[in-house]
Amino acid sequence: MIPVRGYEGRKVAVLGLGRSGLAAARALEAGGAEALCWDDGAEARAKAEAAGLTLHDLSRGNAWEGVAALVVSPGIPHLYPAPNPVIAAAWAAGVPVDNDIGLFFQSFAAEGFEKFDTSPRIVAVTGSNGKSTTSALIHHLLQVAGKPTQLAGNIGRGVLDIDPPGDGEVVVLELSSYQTELARALTPDIAVFTNLTPDHLDRHGGMGGYFAAKRRLFAEGGPDRAVIGVDEAEGRFLANQMAMAPEDDRVIRVSAEVKLGGPGWAVFARKGFLSEYRKGRQVGAIDLRQMRGLPGAHNHQNACAAYAAVRALGLSPKLIEQGLASFEGLPHRSQFVGERGGVSFVNDSKATNVDSAEKALRAFPRVRWIAGGLGKDGGIEALKPALENVVKAYLIGHSAREFALQMGDTPHEICETMERAVARAAEEAEPGDTVLLAPAAASFDQYPDFEKRGEDFTAWVRAIPGEA
Ligand code: ADP
Repeated sequence: MIPVRGYEGRKVAVLGLGRSGLAAARALEAGGAEALCWDDGAEARAKAEAAGLTLHDLSRGNAWEGVAALVVSPGIPHLYPAPNPVIAAAWAAGVPVDNDIGLFFQSFAAEGFEKFDTSPRIVAVTGSNGKSTTSALIHHLLQVAGKPTQLAGNIGRGVLDIDPPGDGEVVVLELSSYQTELARALTPDIAVFTNLTPDHLDRHGGMGGYFAAKRRLFAEGGPDRAVIGVDEAEGRFLANQMAMAPEDDRVIRVSAEVKLGGPGWAVFARKGFLSEYRKGRQVGAIDLRQMRGLPGAHNHQNACAAYAAVRALGLSPKLIEQGLASFEGLPHRSQFVGERGGVSFVNDSKATNVDSAEKALRAFPRVRWIAGGLGKDGGIEALKPALENVVKAYLIGHSAREFALQMGDTPHEICETMERAVARAAEEAEPGDTVLLAPAAASFDQYPDFEKRGEDFTAWVRAIPGEA
């Protein structure tokens, strides 16, 4: 645990008692503060009380007397679609609002850094897609290189739950836009921006608010190095703003689409090959096509971003290549789950929106596509160009019929359930095909979450006779 510094002997309110809220309350108490905990849900309150934390009704009018700060969980809206009433009351009372990420940055550098030969460092990863994969990959590359490292944030442990860092340790954080928008301190040594596509727009009041939330990691924190995906205008704008001149190598530009030249520092992937250029010269090259845990151009973008981050930490291209080859991928994200008679089975249950499903479809040449669930506005209209890779679709869930109407000439069949979809796809698949679960829809019509959906897919795949 990282004890929270700066609130010794003071009262700090904690709103939202999920994983990050409970960790924040414990870390505040460990640092000598009194944590006053609250959650709208009775069940979460009971759990916190059972864990020995103090409840304090923050919805009461006089709740703010003597309270030094309010710490809120990322799931609680503070601005759009409407501010949570407790947060609004804190503003009215003049109580500063923060989150666990802000407390972490405030506390991480507060103490004893002079005792280290090499100071611990923080790599923070944000973006619309690929955050988890990129963060986990950076962590893995560091592990392969024998460097002490911990992974936390949106993935892994809550940030305040990590162990106090040791000499030369690198803490890798995955940060969502909800987290970067609110944190009062945001000071990573290396900040990574993967890409930007519309998401969570209701929580940010539109695309501008969403980008502004992510941009804070760079604008507020002043990282030593900024690794920035430049395949969208927002990334190009950000890279331009962060660099003083074309040769300024505090910015490392990353692309999975174009060859990046110029006198600065750049990492890009084209046709499955990663290249690193610095000061106009190529200094690294890796064939990504053999990396089974990183299929497709979207994962090559993640590989480039992770490569750039660990190059900035001093790892050699050779060591990085070994690490990329041994990365197995994360569960439910283009995860290879098995092969039978030359047919591969891939679980991308996390592809809950059209953008990530399109990326997954483009990663494999002949796809038997399992899709459907609780579809989003517009259905699959936006991924139509990627249907050229689809041999046939096997549609499940609530949106099966709506998706069927949008399939055009692409062969498809309504299967309703995962069991039937896997069985039918496996029956019809030919060697070289990939049976891909990439639903382009939420899971809640048939499953509690996307993980359960992916586990169900994997279980049916494993049940196919003769699976290797
Ligand atoms: P995040 O943590 O940002 O949600 P993940 O690594 O968990 O990202 O991947 C989420 C989904 O997006 C998965 O379906 C995955 O296959 C897809 N994906 C991964 N990397 C990228 C990328 N760079 N661009 C677009 N989609 C991606």
